[in-house]
Amino acid sequence: MSKLDRRTFLLATAAAACAAPGLALAADPYAASPFRKLSDAEWKKRLPPEAYDVLRHEGTERPFTSPLLNEHRKGTFACLGCGLPLFKSDWKFESGTGWPSFYTAIPGALGRKTDHLLAFQERTEYHCAQCLGHQGHVFDDGPKPTGLRYCNDGVALKFTPT
Ligand SMILES: [Zn+2]
Repeated sequence: MSKLDRRTFLLATAAAACAAPGLALAADPYAASPFRKLSDAEWKKRLPPEAYDVLRHEGTERPFTSPLLNEHRKGTFACLGCGLPLFKSDWKFESGTGWPSFYTAIPGALGRKTDHLLAFQERTEYHCAQCLGHQGHVFDDGPKPTGLRYCNDGVALKFTPT
């Protein structure tokens, strides 16, 4: 486990604990996942270059490049790294940002952490709860009913029509 992955994992665990204050430290349901054991070199072999950069190194795809922007069929958007379902097509909306956007996610599918990669702005990063692959950032300027905007890199997702 790399230093970065370890940090992400610890933060995800801490976030899960905060979300359920009445419970004892909730076990990470994906802690034993074989995806957690893959090395960076193994990920590099498994993923297309753009997806590897986003999922494993928190890269950002160029806006308006994802074919998923124009995906309007009913279906599910899953993590390209491990296949965990993250979003449903019903929650997708046209944000105009150039990245696939959703107003909510499947419960338990995402972990979050605050990042400071941009010195002038604090952002909330989110990642797949199973393989810890980076997916995007969540903002509070989304539409009803949640007011959230999950701004997702299309290369990190795999769409399956229903
Ligand atoms: Zn994943």
